[in-house]
Amino acid sequence: MRPHPIYHRCALTPDCRAMIPIDHLMCRPHWRRVPREIKGRVTLTYRRRSADWEVYAQAVRDAKAAVWNTLGRNR
Ligand SMILES: [Zn+2]
Repeated sequence: MRPHPIYHRCALTPDCRAMIPIDHLMCRPHWRRVPREIKGRVTLTYRRRSADWEVYAQAVRDAKAAVWNTLGRNR
């Protein structure tokens, strides 16, 4: 193991235990469920997240909500 973390949990934790690269938000099966528009927003705002954390956080919330929806849950 490297001292610097290069993997973290999928954003759908605690239900998903997949370990993914630090620059990915979700594991592949979950990311596939995110609508294209939101994916684009996450990718775009991720690059600028140090400048504008809130728009990134909002994009992440939308992405998670979209996945929960496809899984038939509400959170
Ligand atoms: Zn996942």
